[in-house]
Amino acid sequence: MPHNRAVVFDLDDTLYPFRRFVLSGCAACARRLERRRGVDARRAFRWMARAFREGAQGREVQTALRMLGLPDRLTPGLVDIIIWGRELNLRLPASTRQALAALRCHGWKIGVLTNGDPAVQARKIDALDLADHVDAIVFANEHGGGKPETAPFLEVARRLRVAPSRIVVVGDDEWCDVNGARRAGMRSVRFVGHRHWPQGPSAADLVLKHIADLPRAAAQLLADHRESHAA
Ligand SMILES: [Mg+2]
Repeated sequence: MPHNRAVVFDLDDTLYPFRRFVLSGCAACARRLERRRGVDARRAFRWMARAFREGAQGREVQTALRMLGLPDRLTPGLVDIIIWGRELNLRLPASTRQALAALRCHGWKIGVLTNGDPAVQARKIDALDLADHVDAIVFANEHGGGKPETAPFLEVARRLRVAPSRIVVVGDDEWCDVNGARRAGMRSVRFVGHRHWPQGPSAADLVLKHIADLPRAAAQLLADHRESHAA
């Protein structure tokens, strides 16, 4: 059956680079600081972007406030802007859009399985305009404790109507995505195209740097799996 296979993608740092979400929020924070505190928005943004780049992920706002001599009590309001602000400027990279189109063209079903607060993840999916390009979206935290638990993986398989053994999971996180997929009886691809820090060893069936290589690689993984089980 040509439709009886699927690729299930993680969201952050797989379908799009997570830094875009953070930096888009930081830019909105910087504009707020300029409007309300009279600081130069570009300068504020530069401090936040530098904090993100240099390993202070999750503390971009605090770092910028300190460097700008502003009170730390502004932090919660600004962090809210990053997570909930309306000015979310995200888009799917062209290479991702092309890979999704190629998978569709070759009869793959496509799912998204994402950890994190479902409301926040839904905002990203909306901003990326993903819903029209995929067949199922599962917020893993609504099914047990999220990835790597087996329940959310089986839920996406159920919604796609594809057997776990015919699903290739693609994600950047070794523990949540690769380990979770293996435990659920699915093939696994560790995608390292958006992360720029050193990667540890992977137990994935395949490590992939370029998403353009995915359609061919996924087909090969399922073919290899079928052969090994027929042998
Ligand atoms: Mg991820």
